[in-house]
Amino acid sequence: MFLLKNRFRSTEFARSMSTALDSSKLKITKTTSPKAKLPNEQLVFGKSFTDHMLTIEWTAESGWGTPEIKPYGNFSLDPSSCVFHYAFELFEGLKAYKDKKGEIRMFRPDKNMERMNKSAARICLPTFESEELIKLIGELLKVDQGFIPDTRGYSLYLRPTLIGTTAGLGVSSPDRALLFVIASPVGPYYKTGFKAVKLEATDYATRAWPGGVGDNKLGANYAPCIKPQLEAASRGYQQNLWLFGPEKNVTEVGTMNFFAVFKDASGKKELVTAPLDGTILEGVTRDSILQLARERLDPAEWTISERYCTINEISSKSKSGELVEAFGAGTAAVVSPIKEIGYRDSTIDVPLLPGEQFGPLTKQVADWIAEIQYGVVESEWSRVVNW
Ligand SMILES: *Cc1c(COP(=O)(O)O)cnc(C)c1O
Repeated sequence: MFLLKNRFRSTEFARSMSTALDSSKLKITKTTSPKAKLPNEQLVFGKSFTDHMLTIEWTAESGWGTPEIKPYGNFSLDPSSCVFHYAFELFEGLKAYKDKKGEIRMFRPDKNMERMNKSAARICLPTFESEELIKLIGELLKVDQGFIPDTRGYSLYLRPTLIGTTAGLGVSSPDRALLFVIASPVGPYYKTGFKAVKLEATDYATRAWPGGVGDNKLGANYAPCIKPQLEAASRGYQQNLWLFGPEKNVTEVGTMNFFAVFKDASGKKELVTAPLDGTILEGVTRDSILQLARERLDPAEWTISERYCTINEISSKSKSGELVEAFGAGTAAVVSPIKEIGYRDSTIDVPLLPGEQFGPLTKQVADWIAEIQYGVVESEWSRVVNW
């Protein structure tokens, strides 16, 4: 017991002695062959990248190394690196925006850093000082500022990633890691602005389970989800909607949290999303929508609920006219209206405003968030990059 305790202490000690992530050590090497920038209408999500990337190596022995901004390019890794064999990988997704004054803004980057550290701790990859990485991402944004579109609806998608790079096939805690950030200019998820999607409810496969890792943004959570999505696509649906358990609780979409709006006979409305019970990815967009809804919707008219609803509740409320809206929420699409949910042999219809691709609350929350992201409305959620 004593020995164990001491051993734990000395590991803690070694970690605290190892170098912290330090943005002041940043080294910048600029590209000598800048890429041509694509016109906005040719941007495809995650297909083209900026001229530079941020990389930081970590070793158990000496901690975080020198942060570097350098030309975007290939890595050279040993084929036995643990990331290739045991999925020591996690990622984040956030966006940078240019406001009307030309200033660069990030939307709630502290939330992404917090979640990234949580994912890292879960798979024994190194944690880091959140504010230091935010500063470093700010430096990458300055170097690649020419790639940040300045049109409303367009932004620069940032992909911070952390991988274990220890060479060797032993299954153990990585003693080497690489943190990198790449950036892709993106447009609206749908060219015509909002376009309501059709989802297929999946109950024959499970995305996440109690005690699992579904609440972490680990690469390992995503590959197994593609097959059910392809099957949904083969039946004409854009995405699948994950159900869980014998009750068939509605959980979330592949990369979006799920929201429904109910309205009862008395006219009282309820905004519902699944609770954070460890099986739901803790979306920054989800959190933002809940906070804004609680602040801005009239409590005499609205209840904001983090609770499960079953697919049967949604189905019966659709039939009775009590289901009035549904949408998905995530960084990539921001808010994505839903018009139909296929479940087994039935179709659950979700109403839209006449002649529109969205319902009223869906449009309202999308506008609230965009106004903050583009700096139209000042908010502490929108972080301006300092020069
Ligand atoms: C990333 C992600 C979301 C959305 O999270 P945001 O922080 O809002 O972008 C929702 N569900 C899953 C499974 C995700 O991977």
